[in-house]
Amino acid sequence: MTSHSKTIDELGFSHAYAALPPDFYTSLMPTPLPAPYLVCGSASAAALIDLDPAEFKDEDFIAAVSGNTIPHGARPLAAVYSGHQFGVWAGQLGDGRAILLGEVPAAGQQAEALELQLKGAGMTPYSRMGDGRAVLRSSIREFLCSEAMAALGIPTSRALCVTGSEKLVMRETPETTAVVTRMAPSFIRFGSFEHWFYHDRKEDLRHLADHVIDRFYPSLRGAENPYRALLEEVTRRTAVMIAHWQAVGFMHGVMNTDNMSILGLTIDYGPFGFMEAFDARHICNHTDQQGRYSYARQPEIGQWNCYALGQALLPLIGDVDETVATLEIYQTTYTRTYNALLRKKLGLQTMEHDDTALIEALFEILQAGHVDFTSFFRKLGQLQLNNSAADEPVRDLFIDRAAFDEWAVAYRARLHQEHSIDATRRLAMDAVNPKYVLRNYLAHAAIEKAQNKDFSEVARLLAILERPFDEQPEHEDYAKLPPDWANDLEVSCSS
Ligand code: AMP
Ligand code: MG
Repeated sequence: MTSHSKTIDELGFSHAYAALPPDFYTSLMPTPLPAPYLVCGSASAAALIDLDPAEFKDEDFIAAVSGNTIPHGARPLAAVYSGHQFGVWAGQLGDGRAILLGEVPAAGQQAEALELQLKGAGMTPYSRMGDGRAVLRSSIREFLCSEAMAALGIPTSRALCVTGSEKLVMRETPETTAVVTRMAPSFIRFGSFEHWFYHDRKEDLRHLADHVIDRFYPSLRGAENPYRALLEEVTRRTAVMIAHWQAVGFMHGVMNTDNMSILGLTIDYGPFGFMEAFDARHICNHTDQQGRYSYARQPEIGQWNCYALGQALLPLIGDVDETVATLEIYQTTYTRTYNALLRKKLGLQTMEHDDTALIEALFEILQAGHVDFTSFFRKLGQLQLNNSAADEPVRDLFIDRAAFDEWAVAYRARLHQEHSIDATRRLAMDAVNPKYVLRNYLAHAAIEKAQNKDFSEVARLLAILERPFDEQPEHEDYAKLPPDWANDLEVSCSS
């Protein structure tokens, strides 16, 4: 068989999640979306499951990913979970608008099967006050960001496509609805474990943990205490994920425990943002008045969330001290990963004791000057050891040029120390410092056009963000600092 040749009905659905006890989910049909049309598809996501990208133009495919028909072999369900929201126990939540179709084999021998989930496909028993829908605006944002994060090498769920409809739902104003088809090996969350812990249902808790270990962490089965090993591995992956977020300036915006993947993937894209004018206290979700999920606090909140998971797994691990000791891996992993990523961003090949001071001094001048995060690291790659004229592009990002010059003296000294070579360093830096990220104003422009039925800008942005490290001189405008009008953009929690 040639690759990427399957139709949606040929994907070969199976249902590991549906094999869990009945209380774990509700079987139900998605609610049809009137007259759906394709907004955008990701060919690279399609390739992951050998789906023929020609499917994106096929009516039967569009009907299936909009919830109007059920693909062959799928068994739709909504999962229950609970969680802590903004630090407070929120009780039962669940897939209020996401419907799991099942999992399909991934392309390639070693790859894990991928679940397909329709987000925005109608009400479920877990919809609470919601309408079960997702608006076009937030669906395009989730689609583009999922694919952009994957291209940046950050662990994330993927997005296969977005379909839209003229059906209106009420948010701050009436908006048209859409469905995002997203993919991940699993959408099980920290909150899925908390659910059984807070209901005092130890056997269900064990069932879930065994399911996760057997399917996603089989090597932990042989550990002395597999549940402790699970906590350790999830904590480690979470710390690695958040170190990557910090290094690229990504802010999730809603790091509630129900939005934390048990696989250490970035999931549930909502009011996220990429850091522009650097401010460590930046809050991308304007409903987060306390700044619990600000850029600076993400590492600490990631750890808090791992403690919440540790609490939920405690009945299985069996010992408080052991559980607390296991969680210590968060801090060490985070620090090690973050420092390694920052060294790479600075083009450093070796590790020196003073590097932390150099990095801290850098963040002080970025903060003081509100320097654009992405542009700074990208342009820093052009610096030359013995030619300060080459500093101009990066130096011009600072109002206080002297502050940059002072830091650059220390930076150059550090580069001299390891006999850094300009051309080699620039190549290495360009491979880790993206030129293109999903700036809010870029997403906003693509969404406005899409709301007027012109989907070309979504497709163009996707193509650019799939190659974030490439120069793409023809798309120079997309690397520019945000225009003045972007200052007034607010990303609300409503989706
Ligand atoms: P979030 O913070 O977006 O991950 O959502 C928190 C919870 O609210 C999850 O259980 C969602 O499924 C649910 N939810 C959010 N929006 C809606 C909606 N429009 N309809 C039903 N449930 C929703
Ligand atoms: Mg969520």
